[in-house]
Amino acid sequence: KPPQDDVAGPSARHKTTQVMVGNVAVGGGAPIVVQSMTNTDTADIDGTVAQIAALARAGSELVRITVDRDEAAAAVPHIRDGLRKRGITTPLIGDFHYIGHKLLTDYPACAEALDKYRINPGNVGFKNKRDTQFADIIEIANKNDKPVRIGANWGSLDQELLTKLMDENTASPNPRDARAVTREAMVQSALLSAARAQELGMPKNKMILSAKVSAVQDLIAVYQDLAARSDYAIHLGLTEAGMGSKGIVASSAALGILLQDGIGDTIRISLTPEPGGDRTLEVQVAQELLQTMGFRTFVPLVAACPGCGRTTSTTFQELARSIQDFIRDEMPGWKTLYPGVEELNVAVMGCIVNGPGESKHANIGISLPGTGEAPAAPVFVDGKKFRTLRGPGIAADFKALVIDYIDQ
Ligand code: SF4
Repeated sequence: KPPQDDVAGPSARHKTTQVMVGNVAVGGGAPIVVQSMTNTDTADIDGTVAQIAALARAGSELVRITVDRDEAAAAVPHIRDGLRKRGITTPLIGDFHYIGHKLLTDYPACAEALDKYRINPGNVGFKNKRDTQFADIIEIANKNDKPVRIGANWGSLDQELLTKLMDENTASPNPRDARAVTREAMVQSALLSAARAQELGMPKNKMILSAKVSAVQDLIAVYQDLAARSDYAIHLGLTEAGMGSKGIVASSAALGILLQDGIGDTIRISLTPEPGGDRTLEVQVAQELLQTMGFRTFVPLVAACPGCGRTTSTTFQELARSIQDFIRDEMPGWKTLYPGVEELNVAVMGCIVNGPGESKHANIGISLPGTGEAPAAPVFVDGKKFRTLRGPGIAADFKALVIDYIDQ
């Protein structure tokens, strides 16, 4: 093997304590887990079951649902049953704020049906009158043998803790800037709550921590600090990432840097959906982030050139799109279908400039004819020219070759 210094790649994974969430391992060297969250009213059983099913089908390995009131807590066991009837076993996480202790106490079937409880230490704190609320949730989790996520959030940070740190900072001879103190409060909020949960008898392998912030640089600093100061399993996410490309870019930038640093055992890409938009986009983006960085493979990768003035027709864009859609929609679970095929790269290129070269790097690739080139599309398989496609059926012929390649 070449010396490690010569190999481009991420830092060694930050060592964390593994937590089982239902049947999914998080941390302790397990593959980085993709998770997502519903935006249905949890009291709407059918709507929530349908959305969880869609997220699970898209590849979400954990799904979080909000449990905000009695009707939602009462619905949770029925949601679980509805999923079972569809053969969906994806672990469910209950997202609790303010009254989680009460809902979990009043609805034991809800506490039983969930695979993990998310606690926000900003609104169910400790060291004050809310201590019993936090303790109640931990006690119920312990009794049901369920893990928790202690999820601090910039938008709902423990104000008592923040005020204390701000006061100490003001009195300090070398005060830090207010943002740095807020970051410290985020980290402390998560760590102090975890320590309190341990005092209450919760083992480390039942806790996952998160400290979500909406600003990329702050998020990176907070998580680097959290990882440096503990070995709890870590849930990564940029909160309030936003809509469309802004949300995708901000999340990918922040999470990409942390993942490259070896930090993060499970990720959620929090995207604000377009009105009527597809909730599963956040799962797709999370998978693509992990895959493009080389951490996991979910679907075969399609490399396509951007196209330019040398691209002769719309055939190129149409083929790239149709191959991408075909692979995503018709080959989910392809590694189960084709055991032993760990990775597959497909190239769809627009002309001779980069076409043959890029296609040779892929498992299977096609170089379409550009301006002034003969109307022929060479196909390369495992680095060698395999066949030349011609005529109006190039797209269908290439798709058939991709299927044949995988079958073989
Ligand atoms: Fe343009 Fe050819 Fe490069 Fe594609 S491979 S971007 S068509 S020059």
